[in-house]
Amino acid sequence: MTSNSGKSLKIVQLYPRDMNIYGDWGNTLSLSRRAKAHGFDVEIVDYNPEDSFPTDADIIVGGGGQDSGQSVIGDDLQSIAATLREMAEKGTPMLVICGLYQLFGNEFRTIGGQVLPGIGIFDAVTVGGEERLIGNIVEESSEFGTIIGYENHSGLTTLSGTTEPLAKVTKGEGNNKDDEFEGARVHNVVGTYLHGSLLPKNPAISDFLIQKAAENKYGEFTPATINDELVEKARASASQRPR
Ligand code: GLN
Repeated sequence: MTSNSGKSLKIVQLYPRDMNIYGDWGNTLSLSRRAKAHGFDVEIVDYNPEDSFPTDADIIVGGGGQDSGQSVIGDDLQSIAATLREMAEKGTPMLVICGLYQLFGNEFRTIGGQVLPGIGIFDAVTVGGEERLIGNIVEESSEFGTIIGYENHSGLTTLSGTTEPLAKVTKGEGNNKDDEFEGARVHNVVGTYLHGSLLPKNPAISDFLIQKAAENKYGEFTPATINDELVEKARASASQRPR
């Protein structure tokens, strides 16, 4: 029993049908397991185009996708944009990876010349490049410490205004080839190019999302003591992999 027993969190996964590659589903699974380890009951709800949007979401997670997947969900994303912006401003924690990270910005101009409007939660513009930026990535964040993951994208993202980067890259590429930054942060929203096993290897980000969700819903969060021995092993091994 922890002091979070009897409390529940609803995780909404955005567009798992079209935006869910390189193991992004693993993030939702890992987040759910972490929340359970902290004592919460967890409900995972899938949101796909034309579903009715669960505005009682406590945490929102969205994955990556090909340019084609991004264009499939584009209109539907615009239909829930105002709701998502309002939730973000009220402090709902959100994690968006790669393709949805790009669409949480102002716009994505694909290499094929298509302009996909974003929803403007991040002040960011992404432009499709010729080259794919692929490989293991390590970066330093003042909030989350060392973040370890894997990137695979051709879009190059430039931040502006009050949107801060998530982290400074120490191995890999990140948002673009010109600056050393990766990802974006506003309110309690985290955007990143790091796929798949992001949350299993970076529980500090899971704990942030869970803490913000619990504080929003219950006014408090009491973390449980979780044995992270295997996480530490995975982090040590992943951070030493070549690019
Ligand atoms: N289509 C985007 C790009 O290549 C997003 C890719 C992804 O989500 N991995 O830049």
